Amino acid sequence: MEFTDLGLSEPILKALAAKKYANPTPIQQKAIPVLLEGRDLCGIAQTGTGKTAAFALPSLDYFARNPKVTPMRGCRMLVLSPTRELAAQIAQSFRDYGRFLKLSVETVFGGVPINRQIKALSNGVDIVVATPGRLLDLIDQRCFTIKDTEIFVLDEADQMMDMGFIHPLKRIAKLLPADRQNLFFSATMPKEIESLAGQFLKDPVKVSVAPQSTTAERVRQQATFVNQAEKQALLHITLEQEEIDRALIFTRTKHGADRVVRFLEGAGIQAFAIHGNKSQGQRTTALQAFRQGKVKLLVATDIAARGIDVSGVSHVINFEIPNVPEQYVHRIGRTARAGAEGVAISFVADDERPYLKAIERATRVKLDMVALPENFLEAVRSLPKPAAPSKGPRQTPAQQTKRADGQRRYQDQQRAQRGSPDKAHRADGEGGDNKPFRRRRRGGGGAVGTHKGAVQRTGAPR
Ligand code: AMP
Repeated sequence: MEFTDLGLSEPILKALAAKKYANPTPIQQKAIPVLLEGRDLCGIAQTGTGKTAAFALPSLDYFARNPKVTPMRGCRMLVLSPTRELAAQIAQSFRDYGRFLKLSVETVFGGVPINRQIKALSNGVDIVVATPGRLLDLIDQRCFTIKDTEIFVLDEADQMMDMGFIHPLKRIAKLLPADRQNLFFSATMPKEIESLAGQFLKDPVKVSVAPQSTTAERVRQQATFVNQAEKQALLHITLEQEEIDRALIFTRTKHGADRVVRFLEGAGIQAFAIHGNKSQGQRTTALQAFRQGKVKLLVATDIAARGIDVSGVSHVINFEIPNVPEQYVHRIGRTARAGAEGVAISFVADDERPYLKAIERATRVKLDMVALPENFLEAVRSLPKPAAPSKGPRQTPAQQTKRADGQRRYQDQQRAQRGSPDKAHRADGEGGDNKPFRRRRRGGGGAVGTHKGAVQRTGAPR
C-alpha cells in the first residue's frame, strides 16, 4: 500500500514525499481510513510504530478540508502527552507533516515560562500538544480553554497512568465539548486503561499493531550477570568493545543517572543525563545534542526517555533492569527503529534476576547470556574516579562538553605517552569521534570475575 492510496489531501502527500515516506506503516494503514471517516479510535501501539503520523495525518487532512478561524484562547485539536520531550516531538511531527498547510502548532508544558505560552495561545491555535499539568494551570488561570476542541488525542495512556495523571485526565475529560473526535493510544491495555479509554471514546474502532509485551523484533538482546557495584566497570568495557553509534543508558533513579555520568566523565567519556531533576533547558539541549550526534551517550530514567524518538540509537543499555516487563519493552523499543537493527544489553545484579525472569516470561524471548569479559577484574580495579559533582549552578551541556573535552585530551596525552599506537591515534581526533568504540568480542570463553555462572545461550524464542 502507498500513501497515495489513502485519499489524503495534496499538501500532506507533498510533505510525506519530502520526508521520503512512501508506504504507510501497519498502524497507519489501519488507523488513517477510519479516522478520515471521523470515527473514534482506540489504538494499541508502541512508539516506533509510526503512531504519531497515524493520528497527525488524518487530523491535518481534516483541517486542510475544513479551514476555520481559531477560537480565541482555544484550540481546534488537543494532543495530550505524558512528557515534555514527547510533546515537543509530536508538535514537530505536526509541523513537518503540515508544512504545506497554514496551521499553527503550539506546545504547552511545564519547566518553561508560562507567560510565553499564554501569549502564544492568546489568539487561539489550531493544534496544541500539552502535558496535563501545565494545561490545567493555564485553564485554571483562565488563559486557555479546551471547550472548542474538535479532535482530542490521548497518547501513551499507560504512561499517563504510571505518572499519576489519572485525576488531571478526569478533569480534562469534563472540560472537553461533547461533540468531538477522540483518539486514544496506549502501548498496553490493562483493565484500568480500558476503563479510562471508556471515559473518552464513543463507539471506537479498535486497532492493534503489537500484542501486549511483544518485544521489538530486530533487537539483539543480551544480558550479563554482574555485581551492582561493578556495573560501572562493565559499562566502560562495553562502550569500548561495542560498535556504538548512539546509546541510551537506562538507570532506575535520577541520582543513579547522574552517578553514571560522573563516572563516565571521570574516564573522559562524554555523556549527558536526562531526568526529572534537570531543568527544561538542560533536557532540551541534551536531547538535541544526542539527536544531532554531538554526544553519543545519553543516560536516562524511564520517564524522561519514554517516547523519545531518536533515529540511529544503535544500543540500549539497561544499567539497571526495570521491575516491570513492559518498561523493558519500551526501553528496547528506543533502538531498532525504522528498519534499523539494534542491540539491547542488560546488566543484571543478583537481586534483579527475578526481573529478568519476568521479562523473559512476558516477552517469550530468552536473552543471550554473555559472560563477563576477560579483562573485567582489571577494569574494576582500575576504574577511574568519578568527576566531582558540580557545585553551584548546574553545568549546562555546553560546559559538560568542555570539561569532557579537557579530560579526553588529558587521557589521550597519557595514552600517547604510554605509546599505545591504537589509542594515541585517537588523540588527534581522527576516527575517534566517529567510531570511538569497537565491537565487543562475544562468547563466554575464559571469563574471570565473580560470575562464572554466566553462560552464553542462543536467543531463540521459547
Ligand atoms: P512514532 O511511532 O510515531 O514515534 O514514529 C517512529 C518513527 O518512524 C519516526 O521517526 C517517524 O518519523 C517514522 N515514520 C513514521 N511513519 C513512517 C512511514 N510511513 N515510513 C517511514 N518512516 C515513518
